[in-house]
Amino acid sequence: MKKSKWLQSAILARYSGILHGFSTSLIGDASSAEQSVLLSCSLGVKKNQLQLMSQQHGCDIKIINDVERPLPRVDALITNVRGVALGVRTADCVPILIYDPQNRVIAAVHAGWRGGAEHVAGKTVDLMKHSFNTKAPDCIVAIGPAIGECCFEVGQEVIDKFPSSSVAGGTHLDLPAAIVTELTDTGIKRDNIDWLNICTSCEKGLCFSHRRDKGMTGRHLAMIMMCDI
Ligand SMILES: [Zn+2]
Repeated sequence: MKKSKWLQSAILARYSGILHGFSTSLIGDASSAEQSVLLSCSLGVKKNQLQLMSQQHGCDIKIINDVERPLPRVDALITNVRGVALGVRTADCVPILIYDPQNRVIAAVHAGWRGGAEHVAGKTVDLMKHSFNTKAPDCIVAIGPAIGECCFEVGQEVIDKFPSSSVAGGTHLDLPAAIVTELTDTGIKRDNIDWLNICTSCEKGLCFSHRRDKGMTGRHLAMIMMCDI
C-alpha cells in the first residue's frame, strides 16, 4: 500500500478539469471545518471554495450554486459550478465522488450503513439525471477508503437491509460492494467505478477508523472540484 497524504482515483485523475482527492491520516484530521479547509488548500483549493456538509446519516441531497453557511444538513451535494469544491468527511463510512463529464456536474456523497440502506448514492445519481440531464453511463465514480467486510461485523437488523450479495458469512457487511451494486443498478458502468478497496480499519498507518479506535479518531476528507480547463 502506497503511503501518501492524498489518495486519488486513476480514472478521475485522467480529467484535467477536475481536482479531487481522499486525504489520509498522514496529512491530519479533517474533523473540524477549519482543518478541512487547510487540507483542501494543500490540493490547490482556495480558502473560500470548500463546501462541507453537516452529515446526518440520511439521504437528503442538496444542489448548490455557491458555498453556503451554515453547512447544509444533508448527506450529498451536487453542483455544476466551477470553483465550488464539494467535501465529505468520513472515518469508516463510504465517501463517494461522482463526475458527469458531459454536462460538467459533480457530486460528493456520504454513505454509512444507514445511507447505504436508503440508497443515498443512487438517489444522488437520480437527482443529477433529473436536474442536469446526466446520463448514468457517462458518469465516473470514485469510492474512497471505508470499512471493509473484513472488519464490519453488524447485527441482523443491519444485515436485513442489504442484499445477500453484500453480506459475508452472514454477519459481515460489505458496504462498499453494496454501493457499487446500487450505482450499477442506476445505470453506471462498473468499469467507470473506481473503488480504491482500502479498509480503514485494517490500514492503521494510513486511515482513521471509528470502529477500530472506538470513536476516538479523526476524519478523512474526500473532495472534488471542477476547475477551468
Ligand atoms: Zn478490514
